[in-house]
Amino acid sequence: MNVSVVLFTSDLRLHDQPPLRAALDGSREVVPLFVVDRAVAAAGFTAPNRLAFLADCLRDLDTGLRERGGRLVVRSGDVVEEVCRVACEADADEVHMAADVSAYARLREARLRRALEGEGRRLHVHDTVTTAVPPGALTPASSDHYAVFTPYFRQWSRQPLRDALGAPRTVRVPGPIGSEDLPSRRGLPGLSQGLAPGGEAAGRRRLTAWLRDGVAAYEDRHDDLAGDATSRLSPHLHFGTLSPVELVHRARRKGGGGADAFVRQLAWRDFHRQVLAARPDAADSDYRTKRDRWRSGRAAQEDIEAWREGRTGYPVVDAAMRQLMHEGWMHNRGRLLTASFLTKTLYIDWRVGARHFLELLVDGDLANNQLNWQWVAGTGTDTRPNRVLNPVAQARRHDPDGAYVRRWVPELAGIEGPAVHEPWKLSASERAACASYPDPVVDLSEGLARFRRARGRE
Ligand SMILES: Cc1cc2nc3c(=O)[nH]c(=O)nc-3n(C[C@H](O)[C@H](O)[C@H](O)COP(=O)(O)OP(=O)(O)OC[C@H]3O[C@@H](n4cnc5c(N)ncnc54)[C@H](O)[C@@H]3O)c2cc1C
Repeated sequence: MNVSVVLFTSDLRLHDQPPLRAALDGSREVVPLFVVDRAVAAAGFTAPNRLAFLADCLRDLDTGLRERGGRLVVRSGDVVEEVCRVACEADADEVHMAADVSAYARLREARLRRALEGEGRRLHVHDTVTTAVPPGALTPASSDHYAVFTPYFRQWSRQPLRDALGAPRTVRVPGPIGSEDLPSRRGLPGLSQGLAPGGEAAGRRRLTAWLRDGVAAYEDRHDDLAGDATSRLSPHLHFGTLSPVELVHRARRKGGGGADAFVRQLAWRDFHRQVLAARPDAADSDYRTKRDRWRSGRAAQEDIEAWREGRTGYPVVDAAMRQLMHEGWMHNRGRLLTASFLTKTLYIDWRVGARHFLELLVDGDLANNQLNWQWVAGTGTDTRPNRVLNPVAQARRHDPDGAYVRRWVPELAGIEGPAVHEPWKLSASERAACASYPDPVVDLSEGLARFRRARGRE
């Protein structure tokens, strides 16, 4: 036996790919394998936008492998059964894969290890593939993980990183291993119209352009809603078409305040992963409960619908929700203020919002999504859990001219300047001209008072 299987999961790339590199060691033959995992679909974690992006990634991975003499093998079904089947067909003695943090990923790893060892094969799980610093590598004195970002970041910044690896020159795949057709984005229902293309080549082009033209201004412009001046690399990080280790190295080499601020955001990603690794239940349960008795019933349901559809009557909230629908992506400032509006102003359970985001976000990611939702809801790691973002103040600050709102809310496109943020203050004739835009679903001060009462902060 001189064959390895590489199980690709959230690391769909050829550059800086430690499992593939280790599998090729000593010019072994390799079966690059992706399993369309039945359990992921059964858990409802297959949003059309992500399936489309995934299809692009797999096609691109196959192309890259073919350029190197190999190809991607795709199977579908139970991931453990399929890996064992392929390992048996290829007479492979070892399987390589990336470490991951969710409860499901860790169960998958344990099941796979047991099954492979039962057949006399070894499983190698590689760190620093989907994170720059592995979960658990940094711990405070009194806990198994950091619950506050700032001290975590201090330690994270001092941590030496391994070098980024180049892509392999050749990949030799043993002949007779059969593959299903690559999944395709064609025919997927309900895709967002403005969905970005996936794949390592697209990710690397975006990264190069970002480091050349975007990152220098990141520190000053990352909150500018209309400016759209963030990297938009999140889906590539989610699917692993880009390596976090390589990103940190390249941003640090670029240097400057913008690059430093960008690297800090990459540390947030690792931070949430180390929280989820230590507390896998935080995907569904409050990390730090506030004993909320979230609103339910008909009025709450109507508010949820208005929020989902971008018709709350608060233009900046509605603009961000419509961007999500249209692109399968939302600006971070939009995510913050729409999540605050749902969980605090409307006092709706964060899980309702998190689920909706996961149905649409192309970068929808269990660690980042659930823990950011909890952060905003005040049940997570925010050290100021009862802060409430006022959508009008946020709009004035982060969309001062109103361009973001006019871009996404066509009913208000005729209103010039910052007046677009408060349609209820328009003259009767101006308001009549945009009458199809709804009145606010809630008075902000009433929403705030309700939240304060609920949290015992009156
Ligand atoms: C309610 C809510 C839900 C979110 N859901 C997700 C999600 O499902 N998937 C996801 O990747 N991000 C999520 N985020 C974090 C953040 O909004 C996105 O990562 C970011 O907007 C992606 O755009 P970008 O790539 O241009 O980010 P940039 O600003 O260019 O940042 C670079 C990278 O740093 C990481 N990053 C940035 N901000 C954060 C953060 N707050 N937490 C963790 N990592 C961060 C991302 O990987 C991002 O791609 C969420 C934030 C909130 C408030």
